[in-house]
Amino acid sequence: MATLEVKDLHVSIKEEKETREILKGVNLTMNTGEIHAIMGPNGTGKSTLSQTIMGNGAYHVTQGDVLLNGESILGMPVDERARKGLFLAMQYPAEIQGVTNAEFLRAAINARRPEDDQISVMAFLKELDKNLSLLDMSEQMTERYLNEGFSGGEKKRNEILQLLMIKPSFALLDEIDSGLDIDALQVVSKGVNSLRGDNFGSLIITHYQRLLNYIVPDVVHVMMDGRIVKSGDADLAKKLEKEGYAGLRDELGLKV
Ligand code: ADP
Ligand code: MG
Ligand code: MG
Repeated sequence: MATLEVKDLHVSIKEEKETREILKGVNLTMNTGEIHAIMGPNGTGKSTLSQTIMGNGAYHVTQGDVLLNGESILGMPVDERARKGLFLAMQYPAEIQGVTNAEFLRAAINARRPEDDQISVMAFLKELDKNLSLLDMSEQMTERYLNEGFSGGEKKRNEILQLLMIKPSFALLDEIDSGLDIDALQVVSKGVNSLRGDNFGSLIITHYQRLLNYIVPDVVHVMMDGRIVKSGDADLAKKLEKEGYAGLRDELGLKV
């Protein structure tokens, strides 16, 4: 079992004149075998949390820690965090010129394996084939440059293909449902659910409860104003959908 712990995390960003604190003491512990969801209004720091866990240098940790299996990862660059088993599917995936999707996938898989145990071409293609058909994707997608000219829906599917191929310990999925039609949403959910098990954990960031009908979370957290203000089970997401964030603010006595 692997554990990801976020402890009293404070994160600031530098703006033109001043630094602004975005995360104001986030606490979260998750184990492999669990799916956690983070919901919350726009601009409350959900993406900031996932970017900070993954190691984006734009986000400055001013207090607190992020631990993977008890070891602080804050000093590690992004690629090292990825080798240790973290994966981030971003709200806006980047395009990379000159690297095909397949090349990228093989390199990413091999980066997580020892030098003397790299994946064979045959094994790679077999695994790729299996996952392409699970996601209802064409083989041609893998010969194209990474994300270049992909539609929004194709990018999202491709992120899930990466997830299935790389098989991280923890996947941070930031609004993978945004811009997806219902068919694509089902395909993406099928992909994530296929990884569910003792060796996989996921933190799913979403605005909408809809995704959580397909990927049922073990724990739901609500983030507001840079803090997790409430945690509960899957019913919490349903309650939020009905009553909105305003209802929860009232209940918790938070200022608007
Ligand atoms: P959420 O994902 O919950 O919508 P974000 O984490 O994206 O929220 O943003 C939280 C706040 O931090 C917002 O006010 C946003 O404008 C600001 N912010 C996030 N990332 C950056 C950045 N790289 N540069 C400047 N401001 C940022
Ligand atoms: Mg947002
Ligand atoms: Mg966001």
